[in-house]
Amino acid sequence: MEPVSSAPDAPARDASSLDVERLRADFPILSEEVNGEPLVYLDNAATSQKPRQVLEAISGYYASDNANVHRGIHELSRRATDAFEGARQRVARFLGTEDPGEVIWTRGTTEAINLVASSWGGANVGEGDEIVLSDMEHHSNLVPWQLLAARTGARLRFVELADDGTLALEGLAELLSERTKLVALTQVSNSLGTINPIREIADQVHDAGALLLVDGAQGAAHAPVDVASLGADFYAFSGHKMCGPTGIGALWARRELLEAMPPYQGGGEMISLVERHASTWADLPHKFEAGTPNIAGAVGMAAALDYLEGVGHHQILRHEQALVAHAMERLSQVEGLRMFGPADPTRRAGVVSFVMEEAHAHDIATILDSKGIAVRAGHHCTQLVMKRYGVPATARASFYLYNTHEEVDRFADALGRVQSIFG
Ligand code: PMP
Repeated sequence: MEPVSSAPDAPARDASSLDVERLRADFPILSEEVNGEPLVYLDNAATSQKPRQVLEAISGYYASDNANVHRGIHELSRRATDAFEGARQRVARFLGTEDPGEVIWTRGTTEAINLVASSWGGANVGEGDEIVLSDMEHHSNLVPWQLLAARTGARLRFVELADDGTLALEGLAELLSERTKLVALTQVSNSLGTINPIREIADQVHDAGALLLVDGAQGAAHAPVDVASLGADFYAFSGHKMCGPTGIGALWARRELLEAMPPYQGGGEMISLVERHASTWADLPHKFEAGTPNIAGAVGMAAALDYLEGVGHHQILRHEQALVAHAMERLSQVEGLRMFGPADPTRRAGVVSFVMEEAHAHDIATILDSKGIAVRAGHHCTQLVMKRYGVPATARASFYLYNTHEEVDRFADALGRVQSIFG
């Protein structure tokens, strides 16, 4: 993602070679009408829509292969296990690791971060230790650390936000010390769109002797990820933000880190030998996967990765940046509208967050909805960001591979209508 974010050339309208019209046909929901108008779906940072290829992979799995995994000696269980473990290998390939044992299935980013906070944090963080976060974090990368700090007496410290919606990274050096155990930061802000320079941050964090957790919920959707070159020690992400189903995501970490960590939850699948008062643990990755997993979800997630690779995953960010540049230009002409986040569209993924002088964010979203345009209004699970910029809520349009310039125009035209009602 970073080479694109630092690309000197501004995104042009045709900067990506995604064949958007053709790939829109893969998403059945996009041909719906909402409130008598063609749907314009601009709530992709909350969750993305799913292509037919993913829907078919999930229903095909249930129709033909469904069984529980690992335990059965029968044909269907073998097929289900192959599909489930094959999906893990697919995620490993996506992340650039050859070891599928380093990929732990979770319900999503939130559970992946909770797993690290609970297991790694419980074993490695004590009173007086420090964890560095930022004011840009989603509550999923904040509250688990608050819970850990309350349990252990550790201290949380924060990288601040600059006025332009980027991290004030000149403050990072001062926050890092021999007390720092972990730095946990988002790759891309869900409420501002800001792309963070994770690679540079990783070097600083490692020089200080700490580990880096990257919240990839918004990052993995927009460009391929190579965890090694990113410099992450833990990488967490969700299938549903990237054309996959809800309820499935993954945690990646290096094998030696995972091997040194205690289990997260107890139950079936995660054990080797169970006795009355003690048990031993299964090998990676199963040590962290108690209970029947989300098999169909894993199959759907693998299909989503195949889909994104097929359409050109590396093109998605460019496409979004072209849409963001167009949206920012159109929105800058709406009177009384204030946008948040970097002014340079090449420093953002496909998110535009804004407020209007006269209309509350929820009123904006309601009026847009009446025109078939789906945006989100609220604090976007980033109350620290809202506090920093002195607003209770923003309206947020977020773009993905299937959005078009024409949809951006419909959205901007509808904001003109909001302005005329409230202005
Ligand atoms: N981090 C960020 C930056 C997010 O945008 C989200 C989802 N909104 C999450 C974490 C949590 O992801 P999930 O709800 O899929 O666990």
